[in-house]
Amino acid sequence: MKLVVTGLSKSFGAVRAVEDVGFTLEGGQMLALIGPNGAGKSTCFQCINGQLQPDAGRIAFDGRDVTRLSVAARARLGLGRTFQIAQVAASLSVGQHVALALAARDPGVWHGVRGRGAGADPAELHAWLERFDLGALAGRLCGELPYPELKRVELASALALKPRVLLMDEPTAGMTRADRRGLMAIVKQEAAGGLAVLFTEHSMDVVFGFADKVLVLVRGRVIAEGAPRRIAEDPAVRAAYLGM
Ligand code: ADP
Ligand code: MG
Repeated sequence: MKLVVTGLSKSFGAVRAVEDVGFTLEGGQMLALIGPNGAGKSTCFQCINGQLQPDAGRIAFDGRDVTRLSVAARARLGLGRTFQIAQVAASLSVGQHVALALAARDPGVWHGVRGRGAGADPAELHAWLERFDLGALAGRLCGELPYPELKRVELASALALKPRVLLMDEPTAGMTRADRRGLMAIVKQEAAGGLAVLFTEHSMDVVFGFADKVLVLVRGRVIAEGAPRRIAEDPAVRAAYLGM
């Protein structure tokens, strides 16, 4: 898998939210997009997943130009995502939510849908819930879960669809350090299995603990790119962003 973004630009009226952003992300890599509020991180994400049409630039997925494809078409090609505010169906139980996601991966299983299990193989569902430490919460309504658990349900459902690229906009916002590390450790395991991960993040312990590569965005432009350690020592980054 290879995601290649070149010359990406997007303005909102006079605001140049993203200007000439480019990078390459390969399967197995975790790339962190960092930068101050308003730097253009979410706009980049929305252009990549298809919610926004860029003014200029190209998004290629395994050599295929997807710049004009819909969100759904990109998702079918293997582009998955989670949201800054976890998006889950509040009225479903944790088990139902994850079962639906597992079933949605393979449309054929819908022929076997019989109520409770929603078509997912029970053993697979059990294993998948355990993997995200959700086994004990299977019967709870998503709408009643505390935020870190809700975030795990969202991630479990997104990964159940077996994406090849996963976009996560501030996956650990508002979490404790322990919850952040727990969530990102699961993502890292998926990356070890070949998933390409692009995420925005404000917590530097997550950036430096999990990213293979960091892209620093300031006022819509990439001001630095490289390994986390090199980025932390970059004088331009320290001046513009880390405030050190
Ligand atoms: P970040 O995610 O890095 O905080 P955003 O991509 O959300 O940054 O925003 C980048 C800039 O674009 C900001 O100046 C923001 O106000 C502006 N912006 C983002 N989305 C819109 C929109 N839908 N309409 C107008 N301006 C927007
Ligand atoms: Mg944002």
